[in-house]
Amino acid sequence: MPIWQAEMRDAIRDLGELRRALDLPNDPSLGARAAADQFSVFVPRPFLRRMRPASPRDPLLLQVLPTRQEEELRAGFVADPVGDEAAQKAPGLLQKYAGRALLTATGVCAVHCRYCFRRHYPYGEVPRREEAWNPALDVLQADASIHEVILSGGDPLTLTDRRLRVLADRIAAIPHVRRLRIHTRLPVMIPSRVAGELLAWLTGGRLTPIVVIHANHAQEIDNEVGAAIDLLRRAGATLLNQAVLLRDVNDSVEAQCSLSERLVEVGVTPYYLHQLDRVQGAAHFETTERQGRSIIEQMQRRLSGYMVPRYVRETPGESQKSALL
Ligand SMILES: *Cc1c(COP(=O)(O)O)cnc(C)c1O
Ligand code: SF4
Repeated sequence: MPIWQAEMRDAIRDLGELRRALDLPNDPSLGARAAADQFSVFVPRPFLRRMRPASPRDPLLLQVLPTRQEEELRAGFVADPVGDEAAQKAPGLLQKYAGRALLTATGVCAVHCRYCFRRHYPYGEVPRREEAWNPALDVLQADASIHEVILSGGDPLTLTDRRLRVLADRIAAIPHVRRLRIHTRLPVMIPSRVAGELLAWLTGGRLTPIVVIHANHAQEIDNEVGAAIDLLRRAGATLLNQAVLLRDVNDSVEAQCSLSERLVEVGVTPYYLHQLDRVQGAAHFETTERQGRSIIEQMQRRLSGYMVPRYVRETPGESQKSALL
């Protein structure tokens, strides 16, 4: 079994274990069972090792710790805040925007982010067997306006390289598709995932490879992550980052500037800063758009233009992500 699969298997899946691993007291304010029952704990150990022990406010911990606040029902926070169901063109295929379509390749992730807008997504309906991709691939084949296929999820890199190669080959066989984009947290969560086989199917074919990672805080990017990103870069992938603006995690100019500095240092361009999608259970992560704009404006004064991400939100029914600044 490849190391990354062993690290998936070895991930922390229990609240008590998470508290013990970080020397946190067994205190209900530091984690709630009911929230963990609704959306389970899943924290891979390479990510855990970057958290500071005995620090309940650690910005990495806050992304994965189930809390009582998740059970609060807040008006406007719903199960499908981004209109994914309406955009489904075939099982596992979403198309909202011109020129590109998104395949939810799997429902499995390498971490469970408490703020995730897909926490209520009906992943039971995601295709599992290879033949189950046929309807989605047929739609892509029939629509010559689609030049880019985005593998998303869940996290597509939780699939084996054998399955991903089959999928990538089938996509590359569609002549009008030019680019293959991967949306993944794996290089950050389990950097050992980036190895020879992955680089071979991702960068060895006809399609232009783009990898969009997801890091929210500079502390997530240690040297191991930097080395994984370097492999992707040397193999020829364009590397971008998307982050979510999260209260108490990265809602300050300092945190966002440090994140951009660190990303650029390892060879990743900041792409999007997302306003939180209003998913039920995530209201306590929300910051105001006013605060988000103020952070971006101050970043623009301090950083090179390419280091400032586009601040966006997803509005159901719109033809692109809406710019907030
Ligand atoms: C965000 C998203 C995309 C990608 O949009 P870009 O602006 O090109 O990054 C594509 N499809 C769906 C359904 C999305 O939500
Ligand atoms: S889809 Fe992305 S944001 Fe959501 S839980 Fe998985 S890794 Fe986290």
